[in-house]
Amino acid sequence: MKTSQLFTKTSKTAPADETSRSAELLLRAGYIYKEMAGVYDFLPLGMRTLQNIIQVIREEMNALGAQELTMSTLQSKAVWEAFTRLMKSYISSYKDLPIYVYQFQNKFRNELRAKSGIMRTREFIMKDLYSFCIDRKQHEKFYEEVAKSYARIFDRLGIGDKTYRTFASGGSFCKFSDEFQTLCEAGEDIIYIDKESGIALNEEVLTDENLENLGIKRENLTEHKAAEVGNIFTLGYKYADALDLNFNDESGKRQKVFMGSYGIGPSRVMGVIAEMLSDDKGLVWPEEIAPYKYYLVGLGEEGNKKAAELHDKAPELVFFDDRDARAGEKFADAELMGMPYRVVISDKTLANNQVEVMNRKTGETKLLTLDEFEHKLV
Ligand code: ATP
Ligand code: MG
Repeated sequence: MKTSQLFTKTSKTAPADETSRSAELLLRAGYIYKEMAGVYDFLPLGMRTLQNIIQVIREEMNALGAQELTMSTLQSKAVWEAFTRLMKSYISSYKDLPIYVYQFQNKFRNELRAKSGIMRTREFIMKDLYSFCIDRKQHEKFYEEVAKSYARIFDRLGIGDKTYRTFASGGSFCKFSDEFQTLCEAGEDIIYIDKESGIALNEEVLTDENLENLGIKRENLTEHKAAEVGNIFTLGYKYADALDLNFNDESGKRQKVFMGSYGIGPSRVMGVIAEMLSDDKGLVWPEEIAPYKYYLVGLGEEGNKKAAELHDKAPELVFFDDRDARAGEKFADAELMGMPYRVVISDKTLANNQVEVMNRKTGETKLLTLDEFEHKLV
C-alpha cells in the first residue's frame, strides 16, 4: 500500500467529542470514521486490523474442532434459540454429538453508555460459539478447552498478560460464568484480583459466601478497572428444554442436549489493544494484527526509488509513504499509525547497501543489509 493510494488522511488534532485514548488515535490515524455516537465505520487500515484479529480467533476456534457458519442477521431476539432450532434439524443420535459451531456477526444494541470509541458501540462484531454436548461431563471438558483457547487468543493479540479469567455471576443460566477481563482504565467493569492465587472476580459476585468457597480473604483483594473482552457460559438444558432438542443415546433412550455459549467481541478487542498498547506518540500494533508490517520511508531521490521498488515486491507487507513531504512528517505518521517496524532508506544507508529498521514498540534501531531486508519480504 502507498500513502498516495490510500484515501484516508491522518490528523494532528484530537476529535473534540471522544474521551478515550483509543478512539482518538484510531480516528486521527484514519482507522475508523465516526458516523454518530457509538457507531463507527472501519476504514481500510482499520478493516485490515480487525480482519487480522478475526483471523487469530478463527484459527483458534478451528483448532478446537469448531465449524464456522453464518446465521442470518434478521432473527428472533434470543440468538440461542435460533441456534437450538437450527440444530434440531441435524441432531438425532449420540453419534452426532458433540457439535461446536461459531460465527462472526454484527450485533445491534441500544447502548446508552456509548462513550468509549469502538470498545462500546451500538453496532459491533461478535464471535459467538455454541456447544452441543451429550451431557454435563462432556460439556465441562470442552468449556475448559475454550478457556485455554481464549488465553491463547489474548496472548497472540498482545494483551494476554493483562487479561484475567474472572468469576462472574451466571445470569439466568447457571451459578457462575467466566468473563475474560482486560485491565484497562477506560474499561467499564470493576474486578478484584487475589494477590496470592491470581484469581479474579467481578464486583457483582463479591459475596462473603463466594470468597469463602474460593478460599480468598477480602483483605488480599486489589480493585481494578477492566474491559470485558470475552465470556463463556454454561447454558445447560434451558434451550434444549424450551425447544425440545433431544437425541437418542446408545440404548435408544431420548436425552436432552447440554449447551454452552462463548463470546468474544473482536471490535471491542481492537479498541482495548489500541488503548493498552499505544504510547504518547500513537498506536503500537503487535505484529500479528498490524495492517502492514513495515512503514517504509525513502529519503532523497535514490532512497525513494529503491523504496518504491521494495514496496512493489510486497505491497501486502509494506506501507510506503510516497508523499512529497518532510521526513519529520513521515516519521510522525509512522508513529501514529503504529506499524511494528519503520524502515528508512536514504542515500546514506544506500551507500552501504543498508536500510535502517526501527522497532515501533521498543524504539530500538538496527541496520540491515538490503539483501537481509529483501529476504523478509518474500
Ligand atoms: P458488557 O457487559 O460489556 O456490555 P455483555 O455482557 O453485554 O458485555 P455479551 O452480550 O455476552 O457481552 O457479548 C459478548 C462479547 O461481545 C463481550 O464479551 C464483548 O467483548 C462484546 N461486546 C458486548 N457488547 C458490546 C458493545 N456494545 N460493543 C462492542 N463489543 C461488545
Ligand atoms: Mg452489554
